[in-house]
Order: sequence, then C-alpha cells, then structure tokens
Amino acid sequence: MQKQFILIFGPQGSGKSTQAKLLAHKLGYKHVSTGELLRSLRDKKDPNGLELSKYWTKGDLVPDQLIEDILFKVFEKDTSQGIILDGYPRNINQLNSFLSKAEIHNWYIDKAFYLIVGEKECVKRISKRVGIENRVDENEEAIKRRLNIYYKSTEPLIAEFEKMGVLERIDGEQTVEEVHRDLYNHFPNDSS
Ligand code: AMP
Repeated sequence: MQKQFILIFGPQGSGKSTQAKLLAHKLGYKHVSTGELLRSLRDKKDPNGLELSKYWTKGDLVPDQLIEDILFKVFEKDTSQGIILDGYPRNINQLNSFLSKAEIHNWYIDKAFYLIVGEKECVKRISKRVGIENRVDENEEAIKRRLNIYYKSTEPLIAEFEKMGVLERIDGEQTVEEVHRDLYNHFPNDSS
C-alpha cells in the first residue's frame, strides 16, 4: 500500500507542531514530530535518547544517520494511511535519504507546507512560550543557533519541494484557526 507523507516546515516559532497536530487529528493521520520524539526518548532515559540529547539541547541538529535510524523504524512500523511529519527532513541530505527509502517502501510526499513567518515574529513567539514549555533548547543562545541552522540548512529545501511540485506556501502569521483552515483547504475531498 502506498503511504502518503505530508510535511510541515517553517522556522522555529512558525507553529508547525500545533498545525501538524490539528491537521493529523482532522485527517485521521499519524503525527510524527522529530523534536517530540527526541524529547520523549530523553525523558524515558533511553540510552540512545540520552546520547542524542547532547546535540539538541545545545540547539544543534542531531546527526542525520542517528535521527533516521529512529525515524525510519517508526515509519516502517506504522500502519496508518498517512503521516503528518513535522521536523523532518531538515536538510538536503535528509531529503535524499528519505527519497531513497520512499522508493523502496512505496512512500510518497503528497504536500510540503511551508509556514511563512518572519524572523521577528518567530523570536517574539518563542520568547512568549519560554517559561510555559520550559524547553532546555529555548535559551537565547540555543534559539539563535536553531534559527541559523534553519535558514542555512532547511530553507534550501523550499526550492527542492518546488521542483518536486509539492510545495504549498501558507501565511503562518495568521491566527492558529486561520492557518489551520488554509492547510485543510488543500484537502477538499476529505470526508472526515
Ligand atoms: P523541533 O522541536 O522540531 O524544533 O526540534 C527540536 C530539536 O530536535 C532541533 O533543534 C534539533 O536539534 C533536533 N531535531 C529535530 N528534528 C531533527 C532532524 N530532522 N534532524 C536533526 N535534528 C533534529
């Protein structure tokens, strides 16, 4: 069976996790957030998860191969029709590994939603959630690193998704409800 992947990406603070959850719920798809996966492995004191937390707590990306070892197992085990993926791929290397795996497993990227939010707004939103979510990677230094990595490594994916014909640009500075509506409008035939 073909498995559909819907990617949601955008800078830190663009609301990708919130939107991925809402969309997954609406479509009845599985939501996979790589950030949440890494945080839960650390919280469970999984030895691998503790090792990986050395990278992400500083705001650095976890090495591609290590995140993919975990992630591909999750995808292969999953039996749902589709996955809403938030936080992966994060660079060209990861996109290429995903595409190679996809060919073997009959997975395909249906859409890649790019949530457009300006840097100033992102910083404002992250500052607001500091103290609410208490993420160790949300101190000033780690946030700067994460945003820099996003602009340098993740934004080039926009051109790749465009070439693949799956890119959908969404104005992420609207309210949560408006962004969700714009995302969901791309699924006119959904009957849920
Ligand atoms: P997020 O919650 O998506 O911002 O992810 C939190 C952190 O987890 C990131 O800053 C990275 O350190 C790590 N991470 C999440 N996804 C990936 C990925 N695809 N590749 C490497 N590291 C990742």
